[in-house]
Amino acid sequence: MIEEQERDITDLLHLDGGNGFFANSFHLRFNDALEVRYRRIYARRDRRYVRALLFVLLVSYVLYGACDWYLLGDSVSPVWAIRYFVGTPILALLLFFSRASWVERFLQIFIVAGIFTLVITTLLMVNLVDGEAVHLYLSSLLAMIMGGLTATRIQFNYAAFTSSLYMLFASIVLLPMAQLNPLVMYYLLLNVVAVLLCLLSVFTYEKMIRREFLQKILIQRKNHELRKANEKLKTLADNDALTNIANRRYFDQVLDEEWRRARRRSYSIAMLMVDIDYFKAFNDSLGHLEGDHCIQQVATGLEELVRRPGDLVARYGGEEFAIILPALNIGEAEQLAQAVCDAIQGLKIAHPNSSVADEVTVSVGAAAIVPTVGFSKRDLIAMADEALYLAKTQGRNRTARVIVPHQESLLD
Ligand code: GH3
Ligand code: MG
Ligand code: MG
Repeated sequence: MIEEQERDITDLLHLDGGNGFFANSFHLRFNDALEVRYRRIYARRDRRYVRALLFVLLVSYVLYGACDWYLLGDSVSPVWAIRYFVGTPILALLLFFSRASWVERFLQIFIVAGIFTLVITTLLMVNLVDGEAVHLYLSSLLAMIMGGLTATRIQFNYAAFTSSLYMLFASIVLLPMAQLNPLVMYYLLLNVVAVLLCLLSVFTYEKMIRREFLQKILIQRKNHELRKANEKLKTLADNDALTNIANRRYFDQVLDEEWRRARRRSYSIAMLMVDIDYFKAFNDSLGHLEGDHCIQQVATGLEELVRRPGDLVARYGGEEFAIILPALNIGEAEQLAQAVCDAIQGLKIAHPNSSVADEVTVSVGAAAIVPTVGFSKRDLIAMADEALYLAKTQGRNRTARVIVPHQESLLD
């Protein structure tokens, strides 16, 4: 469905390549879903415009009564009756309802109703007056239908409908008059030419607006695709392919940010270094594929355990993981380190060749530091590494800690 729409959009955009729309198509409709979206967006935008236009028209229409009186003198009454008892109430009603947002669904019908109110009442007035005044009312009629078609943002199909009906009414009213006054015939022909030219301009305008709409949608769609591609790229760049947890590159980036933040706010930042015990022996007895699977299970186990927002579990190298723990002191970090040991052993991945247990175990080094002058994030990594080395040498499947001596009071 989406692909179909996409093709439709591209087809429509290439319909005439921006020139000579006659050569290619009179098509002024998208597929259904797109058409609904187009109409909704433009109706929302156009409602305010149509409302303002209606207001100006209503005021002008009412004030034009003064011209009626000037032109017609004592015989003004029937014209005023049409203007003030038919035209004005209808226009006022349209103006009143145009405040409601439901009008957006019927905006085109609203515009047609407005144009008809103006031209039909004026046609009736033409029929009522005589002498020089006929020409003046016929001129305003011409101005009204031209303005109605070009200034209201009416859609082409509604404009074509309005024009046909208008020409029919105008012929019914004006043809009998033309027999007595040949100039009326001239006005009628002028109306035909003017209406056709206006329709041409309505068509060109709508075609342009629709093209603009399609281009906007295409740009939106391309932006969306780009954003998605960027997100995917970022995931690829930040994640380790085997375990799908953060890789070393992302670890470095996050450590840098967290280190700065901890330094600014003077709180401690902790790190755990986790290494699978006797992993070479695991590989040797069960093969590298089983080894890979084991690394994946350990990674998932670590991620399930370390869930605080801001913490980060990363694959640091081969069978080694590093965990960044902002705002944790060494006591809390060591508790978590023990929980890591227990959790991994709890996974019960059989290890046929380990000297410490029947299942896969890890050793964990914990370190914490309050970033002050003279320390860098490298020191934190080095301390966590040193703690891991201690845990290994003390027998494996255990934790060890390293802290900076004079920070002891801050950390516990
Ligand atoms: P220790 O208890 O001291 O940590 O001993 P160890 O055998 O775990 O450590 P050592 O550094 O001797 O061996 C690590 C092994 O991890 C060697 C290497 O083949 C294996 N390894 C590293 N990366 C991967 C990997 O991505 N997949 C698999 N299957 N094995 C890996
Ligand atoms: Mg190891
Ligand atoms: Mg290792």
